[in-house]
Amino acid sequence: AKETGRDHYAFFTERMDAEIRDKLAIQAQLRGAIARDEFEVHYQPQMCLRTGELLGAEALLRWDNPVLGKVPPNRFIPLAEEYGMVTAIGEWVLESVCAQIKLWHDEGLGDIKVAVNLSAGQFGHDNTVAFVEATLRRFGVAPANLGLEITEGTVMGDPDKAVAALKCLKDIGVSISLDDFGTGYSSLGYLKRFPIDVLKIDKSFVDDVTTNANDAAIALSVISLAHNLNLRVIAEGVETRAQVDFLAERGCDEMQGYYFSRPLAAPAFTALLRQPRKL
Ligand code: C2E
Ligand code: CA
Ligand code: CA
Ligand code: CA
Repeated sequence: AKETGRDHYAFFTERMDAEIRDKLAIQAQLRGAIARDEFEVHYQPQMCLRTGELLGAEALLRWDNPVLGKVPPNRFIPLAEEYGMVTAIGEWVLESVCAQIKLWHDEGLGDIKVAVNLSAGQFGHDNTVAFVEATLRRFGVAPANLGLEITEGTVMGDPDKAVAALKCLKDIGVSISLDDFGTGYSSLGYLKRFPIDVLKIDKSFVDDVTTNANDAAIALSVISLAHNLNLRVIAEGVETRAQVDFLAERGCDEMQGYYFSRPLAAPAFTALLRQPRKL
Protein backbone atom coordinates (compact mmCIF):
# COMPACT_ATOMS: atom_id res chain seq x y z
CA ALA A 1 0.00 0.00 0.00
CA LYS A 2 2.92 2.25 0.85
CA GLU A 3 4.45 1.48 -2.51
CA THR A 4 1.24 2.41 -4.35
CA GLY A 5 0.98 5.59 -2.32
CA ARG A 6 4.44 6.61 -3.40
CA ASP A 7 3.66 5.77 -7.03
CA HIS A 8 0.56 7.87 -6.87
CA TYR A 9 2.53 10.71 -5.38
CA ALA A 10 5.22 10.42 -8.04
CA PHE A 11 2.54 10.32 -10.70
CA PHE A 12 0.87 13.36 -9.20
CA THR A 13 4.05 15.45 -9.05
CA GLU A 14 4.95 14.39 -12.57
CA ARG A 15 1.59 15.61 -13.73
CA MET A 16 2.04 18.86 -11.83
CA ASP A 17 5.47 19.31 -13.38
CA ALA A 18 4.03 18.69 -16.82
CA GLU A 19 1.24 21.17 -16.17
CA ILE A 20 3.72 23.81 -15.01
CA ARG A 21 6.04 23.16 -17.96
CA ASP A 22 3.06 23.42 -20.27
CA LYS A 23 1.99 26.72 -18.74
CA LEU A 24 5.52 28.11 -18.90
CA ALA A 25 5.82 27.09 -22.55
CA ILE A 26 2.54 28.83 -23.36
CA GLN A 27 3.63 31.91 -21.44
CA ALA A 28 6.96 32.04 -23.27
CA GLN A 29 5.36 31.59 -26.68
CA LEU A 30 2.48 34.01 -26.01
CA ARG A 31 4.91 36.81 -25.37
CA GLY A 32 5.91 37.25 -29.00
CA ALA A 33 2.82 35.83 -30.65
CA ILE A 34 1.38 39.16 -31.82
CA ALA A 35 4.73 40.32 -33.23
CA ARG A 36 5.16 37.00 -35.06
CA ASP A 37 1.64 37.32 -36.45
CA GLU A 38 0.46 33.97 -35.07
CA PHE A 39 -3.11 34.99 -34.25
CA GLU A 40 -6.03 34.86 -36.61
CA VAL A 41 -9.66 35.82 -36.12
CA HIS A 42 -12.30 33.36 -37.30
CA TYR A 43 -15.91 34.36 -37.88
CA GLN A 44 -18.90 32.21 -36.98
CA PRO A 45 -22.17 33.19 -38.70
CA GLN A 46 -25.12 34.35 -36.62
CA MET A 47 -28.45 33.69 -38.33
CA CYS A 48 -31.84 35.34 -38.06
CA LEU A 49 -34.42 32.65 -37.40
CA ARG A 50 -37.36 34.50 -38.83
CA THR A 51 -35.80 35.26 -42.21
CA GLY A 52 -32.95 32.76 -42.40
CA GLU A 53 -30.67 35.70 -43.10
CA LEU A 54 -27.02 35.97 -42.12
CA LEU A 55 -26.95 38.86 -39.64
CA GLY A 56 -23.36 38.87 -38.54
CA ALA A 57 -20.69 36.87 -36.83
CA GLU A 58 -18.94 36.16 -33.58
CA ALA A 59 -15.19 36.75 -33.73
CA LEU A 60 -13.26 33.79 -32.29
CA LEU A 61 -9.52 33.93 -31.83
CA ARG A 62 -7.21 31.22 -33.19
CA TRP A 63 -3.55 30.76 -32.26
CA ASP A 64 -1.17 28.66 -34.32
CA ASN A 65 2.31 28.54 -32.82
CA PRO A 66 5.32 26.83 -34.48
CA VAL A 67 6.35 25.14 -31.19
CA LEU A 68 3.01 24.39 -29.55
CA GLY A 69 0.82 23.94 -32.62
CA LYS A 70 -2.78 25.08 -32.46
CA VAL A 71 -3.68 26.13 -28.92
CA PRO A 72 -7.41 26.59 -28.21
CA PRO A 73 -8.59 29.93 -26.79
CA ASN A 74 -10.09 28.21 -23.74
CA ARG A 75 -6.53 27.26 -22.89
CA PHE A 76 -4.49 30.37 -23.64
CA ILE A 77 -6.93 33.21 -22.83
CA PRO A 78 -7.06 32.38 -19.09
CA LEU A 79 -3.24 32.17 -19.04
CA ALA A 80 -2.96 35.45 -20.93
CA GLU A 81 -5.19 36.95 -18.24
CA GLU A 82 -2.99 35.50 -15.52
CA TYR A 83 0.17 36.87 -17.16
CA GLY A 84 -1.26 40.31 -17.87
CA MET A 85 -1.14 39.86 -21.64
CA VAL A 86 -4.83 39.78 -22.35
CA THR A 87 -5.29 43.50 -22.95
CA ALA A 88 -2.75 43.50 -25.76
CA ILE A 89 -4.38 40.43 -27.31
CA GLY A 90 -7.87 41.91 -26.91
CA GLU A 91 -6.75 45.12 -28.59
CA TRP A 92 -5.23 43.12 -31.45
CA VAL A 93 -8.54 41.26 -31.93
CA LEU A 94 -10.54 44.49 -31.96
CA GLU A 95 -8.21 46.08 -34.52
CA SER A 96 -8.29 43.01 -36.77
CA VAL A 97 -12.07 42.84 -36.61
CA CYS A 98 -12.49 46.55 -37.36
CA ALA A 99 -10.07 46.31 -40.30
CA GLN A 100 -12.06 43.35 -41.62
CA ILE A 101 -15.47 45.04 -41.17
CA LYS A 102 -14.10 47.99 -43.15
CA LEU A 103 -12.92 45.67 -45.97
CA TRP A 104 -16.35 44.04 -46.17
CA HIS A 105 -18.02 47.44 -46.13
CA ASP A 106 -15.75 48.76 -48.91
CA GLU A 107 -16.40 45.67 -51.01
CA GLY A 108 -20.11 46.44 -50.81
CA LEU A 109 -20.84 43.30 -48.85
CA GLY A 110 -23.09 45.15 -46.48
CA ASP A 111 -22.89 46.18 -42.92
CA ILE A 112 -21.98 43.11 -40.97
CA LYS A 113 -22.20 43.16 -37.21
CA VAL A 114 -19.32 41.37 -35.54
CA ALA A 115 -19.39 40.47 -31.86
CA VAL A 116 -16.03 40.43 -30.08
CA ASN A 117 -15.47 38.57 -26.79
CA LEU A 118 -14.14 40.69 -23.96
CA SER A 119 -12.16 39.08 -21.21
CA ALA A 120 -11.80 39.83 -17.55
CA GLY A 121 -8.96 42.27 -17.14
CA GLN A 122 -9.86 44.30 -20.20
CA PHE A 123 -12.27 46.20 -17.97
CA GLY A 124 -9.64 46.68 -15.32
CA HIS A 125 -8.15 49.11 -17.81
CA ASP A 126 -9.63 52.57 -17.62
CA ASN A 127 -9.06 53.16 -21.30
CA THR A 128 -11.03 50.24 -22.74
CA VAL A 129 -13.86 52.58 -23.76
CA ALA A 130 -11.47 55.12 -25.22
CA PHE A 131 -9.65 52.37 -27.12
CA VAL A 132 -12.87 51.00 -28.62
CA GLU A 133 -13.97 54.49 -29.70
CA ALA A 134 -10.57 55.35 -31.15
CA THR A 135 -10.35 52.06 -33.03
CA LEU A 136 -13.81 52.45 -34.57
CA ARG A 137 -12.86 55.94 -35.69
CA ARG A 138 -9.41 54.92 -36.96
CA PHE A 139 -10.87 52.19 -39.19
CA GLY A 140 -13.98 54.14 -40.16
CA VAL A 141 -16.35 51.56 -38.71
CA ALA A 142 -19.83 52.50 -37.50
CA PRO A 143 -20.42 51.55 -33.84
CA ALA A 144 -23.59 49.72 -34.90
CA ASN A 145 -21.34 47.20 -36.69
CA LEU A 146 -19.62 46.20 -33.47
CA GLY A 147 -20.95 44.07 -30.64
CA LEU A 148 -19.19 43.03 -27.47
CA GLU A 149 -19.79 39.76 -25.64
CA ILE A 150 -19.32 39.78 -21.91
CA THR A 151 -19.77 37.10 -19.26
CA GLU A 152 -20.25 37.45 -15.56
CA GLY A 153 -16.55 36.61 -15.29
CA THR A 154 -15.65 39.58 -17.48
CA VAL A 155 -17.26 42.08 -15.17
CA MET A 156 -16.98 40.36 -11.78
CA GLY A 157 -13.70 42.04 -10.78
CA ASP A 158 -15.14 45.54 -10.61
CA PRO A 159 -18.85 45.53 -11.52
CA ASP A 160 -19.36 49.26 -10.91
CA LYS A 161 -16.57 50.18 -13.26
CA ALA A 162 -17.84 47.65 -15.82
CA VAL A 163 -21.39 49.06 -15.67
CA ALA A 164 -20.02 52.57 -16.28
CA ALA A 165 -17.83 51.39 -19.17
CA LEU A 166 -20.65 49.41 -20.78
CA LYS A 167 -23.04 52.35 -20.51
CA CYS A 168 -20.53 54.54 -22.36
CA LEU A 169 -20.13 51.90 -25.06
CA LYS A 170 -23.87 51.49 -25.41
CA ASP A 171 -24.28 55.27 -25.64
CA ILE A 172 -21.99 55.40 -28.65
CA GLY A 173 -24.01 52.60 -30.31
CA VAL A 174 -22.05 49.42 -29.61
CA SER A 175 -24.33 46.54 -28.59
CA ILE A 176 -23.67 44.28 -25.63
CA SER A 177 -24.44 40.56 -25.35
CA LEU A 178 -24.43 38.59 -22.12
CA ASP A 179 -22.69 35.34 -23.03
CA ASP A 180 -23.03 31.89 -21.43
CA PHE A 181 -26.22 33.02 -19.78
CA GLY A 182 -27.41 30.78 -16.98
CA THR A 183 -24.07 29.15 -16.23
CA GLY A 184 -22.94 31.65 -13.58
CA TYR A 185 -24.21 32.46 -10.12
CA SER A 186 -26.00 35.77 -10.24
CA SER A 187 -27.24 36.19 -13.79
CA LEU A 188 -30.51 37.85 -12.81
CA GLY A 189 -28.72 40.51 -10.79
CA TYR A 190 -26.48 41.23 -13.77
CA LEU A 191 -29.52 41.54 -16.03
CA LYS A 192 -30.88 44.25 -13.82
CA ARG A 193 -27.66 46.23 -13.50
CA PHE A 194 -25.99 45.88 -16.87
CA PRO A 195 -27.01 47.66 -20.08
CA ILE A 196 -27.49 44.54 -22.17
CA ASP A 197 -29.04 44.17 -25.64
CA VAL A 198 -28.79 40.43 -26.24
CA LEU A 199 -28.91 37.29 -24.10
CA LYS A 200 -27.04 34.23 -25.33
CA ILE A 201 -28.47 30.88 -24.28
CA ASP A 202 -25.50 28.74 -23.36
CA LYS A 203 -24.70 25.67 -25.43
CA SER A 204 -25.07 23.45 -22.35
CA PHE A 205 -28.85 24.14 -22.39
CA VAL A 206 -29.11 23.81 -26.16
CA ASP A 207 -27.43 20.39 -26.41
CA ASP A 208 -30.37 18.38 -25.04
CA VAL A 209 -33.12 20.95 -25.53
CA THR A 210 -35.23 18.59 -27.62
CA THR A 211 -34.89 15.58 -25.30
CA ASN A 212 -34.47 16.91 -21.78
CA ALA A 213 -37.51 18.55 -20.22
CA ASN A 214 -35.42 20.61 -17.79
CA ASP A 215 -33.20 22.04 -20.52
CA ALA A 216 -36.29 22.81 -22.61
CA ALA A 217 -37.89 24.60 -19.64
CA ILE A 218 -34.72 26.62 -19.05
CA ALA A 219 -34.43 27.59 -22.74
CA LEU A 220 -38.09 28.67 -22.82
CA SER A 221 -37.69 30.68 -19.63
CA VAL A 222 -34.61 32.46 -20.97
CA ILE A 223 -36.47 33.32 -24.20
CA SER A 224 -39.45 34.80 -22.37
CA LEU A 225 -37.26 36.51 -19.80
CA ALA A 226 -35.27 38.15 -22.60
CA HIS A 227 -38.38 39.23 -24.49
CA ASN A 228 -40.05 40.60 -21.37
CA LEU A 229 -36.95 42.70 -20.80
CA ASN A 230 -36.96 43.83 -24.45
CA LEU A 231 -33.76 41.95 -25.21
CA ARG A 232 -33.02 39.78 -28.19
CA VAL A 233 -32.05 36.20 -27.58
CA ILE A 234 -29.54 34.07 -29.44
CA ALA A 235 -28.87 30.37 -28.94
CA GLU A 236 -25.27 29.17 -29.27
CA GLY A 237 -23.95 25.73 -30.12
CA VAL A 238 -26.90 24.75 -32.31
CA GLU A 239 -25.95 21.54 -34.09
CA THR A 240 -29.13 19.85 -35.32
CA ARG A 241 -32.19 20.63 -37.35
CA ALA A 242 -34.35 19.47 -34.43
CA GLN A 243 -32.76 22.11 -32.18
CA VAL A 244 -33.30 24.81 -34.84
CA ASP A 245 -36.98 23.91 -35.22
CA PHE A 246 -37.57 23.66 -31.50
CA LEU A 247 -35.98 27.04 -30.73
CA ALA A 248 -37.49 28.78 -33.76
CA GLU A 249 -41.01 27.68 -32.83
CA ARG A 250 -40.49 29.10 -29.38
CA GLY A 251 -39.44 32.54 -30.54
CA CYS A 252 -35.65 32.47 -30.26
CA ASP A 253 -34.45 35.37 -32.43
CA GLU A 254 -31.03 34.26 -33.61
CA MET A 255 -28.84 31.18 -33.72
CA GLN A 256 -25.26 30.23 -34.09
CA GLY A 257 -23.69 26.80 -34.29
CA TYR A 258 -22.18 24.03 -36.37
CA TYR A 259 -25.60 23.32 -37.90
CA PHE A 260 -25.17 26.55 -39.87
CA SER A 261 -21.41 26.87 -39.95
CA ARG A 262 -18.22 26.40 -38.00
CA PRO A 263 -16.16 29.52 -37.33
CA LEU A 264 -14.54 30.46 -40.67
CA ALA A 265 -11.30 32.20 -41.59
CA ALA A 266 -11.92 35.63 -43.13
CA PRO A 267 -11.68 34.52 -46.79
CA ALA A 268 -14.24 31.74 -46.29
CA PHE A 269 -16.58 34.08 -44.43
CA THR A 270 -16.16 36.63 -47.22
CA ALA A 271 -17.16 33.96 -49.74
CA LEU A 272 -20.29 33.37 -47.68
CA LEU A 273 -21.10 37.09 -47.73
CA ARG A 274 -20.78 37.16 -51.52
CA GLN A 275 -23.51 34.53 -51.81
CA PRO A 276 -27.16 35.38 -51.29
CA ARG A 277 -27.55 35.96 -47.58
CA LYS A 278 -29.14 32.67 -46.70
CA LEU A 279 -27.65 29.39 -45.54
P1 C2E B 1 -17.61 31.29 -26.29
O1 C2E B 1 -17.54 32.77 -26.35
O2 C2E B 1 -18.72 30.69 -25.51
O3 C2E B 1 -17.61 30.82 -27.81
C1 C2E B 1 -18.36 29.73 -28.29
C2 C2E B 1 -17.48 28.52 -28.52
O4 C2E B 1 -18.30 27.44 -28.98
C3 C2E B 1 -16.42 28.70 -29.58
O5 C2E B 1 -15.30 27.90 -29.20
C4 C2E B 1 -17.09 28.12 -30.83
O6 C2E B 1 -16.16 27.70 -31.81
C5 C2E B 1 -17.81 26.95 -30.22
N1 C2E B 1 -18.99 26.53 -30.99
C6 C2E B 1 -19.80 27.29 -31.75
N2 C2E B 1 -20.82 26.56 -32.28
C7 C2E B 1 -20.62 25.29 -31.83
C8 C2E B 1 -21.34 24.05 -32.03
O7 C2E B 1 -22.36 23.99 -32.71
N3 C2E B 1 -20.84 22.96 -31.40
C9 C2E B 1 -19.71 23.00 -30.63
N4 C2E B 1 -19.29 21.88 -30.07
N5 C2E B 1 -19.02 24.15 -30.41
C10 C2E B 1 -19.48 25.28 -31.02
P2 C2E B 1 -13.83 28.47 -29.33
O8 C2E B 1 -13.68 29.25 -30.59
O9 C2E B 1 -12.89 27.34 -29.08
O10 C2E B 1 -13.73 29.49 -28.15
C11 C2E B 1 -13.81 29.07 -26.82
C12 C2E B 1 -13.88 30.23 -25.87
O11 C2E B 1 -12.68 31.00 -25.91
C13 C2E B 1 -15.00 31.21 -26.20
O12 C2E B 1 -16.22 30.71 -25.70
C14 C2E B 1 -14.51 32.45 -25.49
O13 C2E B 1 -14.81 32.40 -24.13
C15 C2E B 1 -13.00 32.34 -25.64
N6 C2E B 1 -12.56 33.21 -26.76
C16 C2E B 1 -12.49 32.93 -28.09
N7 C2E B 1 -12.02 34.00 -28.78
C17 C2E B 1 -11.81 34.98 -27.87
C18 C2E B 1 -11.33 36.34 -27.95
O14 C2E B 1 -11.03 36.90 -29.02
N8 C2E B 1 -11.23 37.02 -26.77
C19 C2E B 1 -11.57 36.47 -25.58
N9 C2E B 1 -11.46 37.21 -24.47
N10 C2E B 1 -12.05 35.22 -25.46
C20 C2E B 1 -12.15 34.47 -26.60
CA1 CA C 1 -18.81 34.43 -26.92
CA1 CA D 1 -20.78 31.61 -25.39
CA1 CA E 1 -20.66 28.72 -23.83
